[in-house]
Amino acid sequence: MIEGRRIEVRGAVQGVGFRPWVYRLARRAGLRGRVRNHARGVTIEAFGMPRSLAAFVHDLEEDTLPSATIVELQCSSIPAEALGDFIIDASHEAGDRSLSIAPDLATCSACCAEVSDPEDRRFGYAFTNCTGCGPRFTITTGVPYDRASTTMSGFDLCPACTREFHDPNDRRFHAQPNACPACGPSLSLWHTDGSPVDCEDPIVEVAARLRQGAIVAVKGLGGFHLACDARDRRAVRTLRHRKNRDEKPFAVMVRDVTEAYALGSMTAEEESRLCSAERPIVLTPKRVDAPLAEEVAPDSELVGLLLPYTPLHHLLLERVRRPLVMTSGNVAGEPICKDEAAVIAALGHVADAFLVHDRPIATRCDDSVVRVIARRSVVLRRGRGFVPRPVRLTRPVERPVLACGAQLKNTFCIAIENEAYLGPHVGDLETLVAIEFFEEAVQRMQSMLGVEAEVIAHDLHPGYASTRYATSRERGVTVGVQHHHAHVVSAMAEHGVEGPVLGIAYDGTGFGTDGTAWGGELLLCFRNRFERLATFRPFRLPGGDVAMREVWRASLGLLYDAFDGAPPLEELPLFHGVSARPLRVATQMVDRHVNAPSVRGVGRYFDAVGALALQRPRASFEAQIAVAWNTIADRSEVRRYPFDLDLEQHPHEIDLRPMVRAIVGDLLTGVPPASISAKFHNTLVTATVTTAQELVGTIGRPPVVLTGGAFQNPWLSEGIAGRLRHDWVCLTHEEVPPGDGGIALGQAVAADAMLREESRPCA
Ligand code: ZN
Ligand code: ZN
Ligand code: FE
Repeated sequence: MIEGRRIEVRGAVQGVGFRPWVYRLARRAGLRGRVRNHARGVTIEAFGMPRSLAAFVHDLEEDTLPSATIVELQCSSIPAEALGDFIIDASHEAGDRSLSIAPDLATCSACCAEVSDPEDRRFGYAFTNCTGCGPRFTITTGVPYDRASTTMSGFDLCPACTREFHDPNDRRFHAQPNACPACGPSLSLWHTDGSPVDCEDPIVEVAARLRQGAIVAVKGLGGFHLACDARDRRAVRTLRHRKNRDEKPFAVMVRDVTEAYALGSMTAEEESRLCSAERPIVLTPKRVDAPLAEEVAPDSELVGLLLPYTPLHHLLLERVRRPLVMTSGNVAGEPICKDEAAVIAALGHVADAFLVHDRPIATRCDDSVVRVIARRSVVLRRGRGFVPRPVRLTRPVERPVLACGAQLKNTFCIAIENEAYLGPHVGDLETLVAIEFFEEAVQRMQSMLGVEAEVIAHDLHPGYASTRYATSRERGVTVGVQHHHAHVVSAMAEHGVEGPVLGIAYDGTGFGTDGTAWGGELLLCFRNRFERLATFRPFRLPGGDVAMREVWRASLGLLYDAFDGAPPLEELPLFHGVSARPLRVATQMVDRHVNAPSVRGVGRYFDAVGALALQRPRASFEAQIAVAWNTIADRSEVRRYPFDLDLEQHPHEIDLRPMVRAIVGDLLTGVPPASISAKFHNTLVTATVTTAQELVGTIGRPPVVLTGGAFQNPWLSEGIAGRLRHDWVCLTHEEVPPGDGGIALGQAVAADAMLREESRPCA
């Protein structure tokens, strides 16, 4: 007896060769029927003998296609139909505008093999791709996803490519960006003024120049990179100098896993992340003997490694035979460049040459960054490879929400029904170019999804550009979500937890409901509201934001509080590096509470104590001192410093003044900074765990959520999670960044819940 089954597949299954794969499985099982794309997935209707149908469904579930992410597979019985064959049905595709476009996919092994085969017609071709790999999100200009709505629309398929495109048995059946040397995009090498370099093969020429120490801007998938030989100290130093990027580490692209192991001592988990289809930058401990210029990642025990993810990268790395610095091609503080004209204007003085091509980039998308913390991989920057894969929500939002994110490391989020789409990493909204990119990316994502948001969620900080954007929009209900509440709800949403949870949100700063800067918060959180249970004792930050760079100011404020206005500044070497006048002015600010806001962010404590003990008055970028301070900690040190916990106050207050005084004592008696750092970390861990235990009487033991930028610090994360896991369920971020890059997801979910449940947060 012939039976029928309808199988609904949801997930990132379009643009990844899913239908041809289904077609082949169905043929193999001897079934008839059809498969088609729609809404947010694929529907299969299959007809045949029950046993064949069962085998087919089993194959669908078990034989996963590596490039597809199946979120859900539902099978139901339907009446049998008499069909002659199994077909790929394209007739329903135009109607629905929901997004199931895949992220950009790293070049597959089959395509790599063709590119390196002298007999193949795609030998050495930098734009080779197939249904299992290649550009997707970054070339998409509209929906539905087909060639006409990508930046490949200007290239007409040649007869050979057309044949592949229409042959269901071909790997390139319906591969929208399909291309070959005869019909696809091509490379060129340009001088810094945009005139072509006369050369036979741009890749050979670029490789030769890189080996001689040149800096070359290379057009990639989601933007330009600046490349140079990572072993060449002079080249790397020149790049730093020209790019005006003081000490931030550069990512390094290596040819293969073997070369990666020569540079970083990776764990198996790190290796698997490095090789994953997303091909992120993986932060891994740098080998002491790594053949890398010191200037690549000065001051850091870590190195960010990534593998080639386009045929262009493979060809280049194969030729250069050296690890390459591959850093975002942008002006400091601005988003990555995507157009030739912009890149020449912005980087004409940085790069010696430009390797460009004629396939436009529709949407910028930076490389993603991943780090393994407590044996779990955590996405620290969510970009290429992840965007626009949605986070699935356990509770659908009532109306489409646009969440505008934070000011720094901005990403936005659009939630529709039970899916939340985080946009690409926009970066710091501090320049006009960045704000334009933000607005453009929001527009593009909305049009791809076919929605206009009706609810606009934003941070409470009135000075954030994202807040101003939200409140100046003409359409939609705006909802302000407190910064740390949003951090916690982001982690709740990622793990599908409804609340209440005990949210531990530690970061540098976030606008509190009382108008002051928060950042060391223990909150009882629901999706729509929270109660602030405990926080850190604040200290004064003379000069406010200036102290992000001039970290000695944080040390001054902290010491001033700990020593009741009489800190032993002359005895502390840190202050020998600060001129007398600014020191005197800053002291007056703290003393008189003028231009010295109260802060309590855990990140500020890291700055203050790190600067003091490392004797480094200045940071060249955000969190530099905090990272250096974490890096030097002596892992074998188990002792900690004293602290107080004030339970009389509501919220309770963690008082670290006893610790600060003890640290000064250690410094004055010559205790090594490595040991002080370890004891400092241990103190924060114990203070947090003790406070959580004190709260059990009031709130019981709901799941604990660790969130906020401070939890990028593995010692803090592992320490707190490790101790809490004895008695609590403890959740940490994985797919969504713990820092401000993940906050938009929480804003979206919280805003929906706040409107729906008609309650306001209590402070
Ligand atoms: Zn491929
Ligand atoms: Zn062709
Ligand atoms: Fe934050």
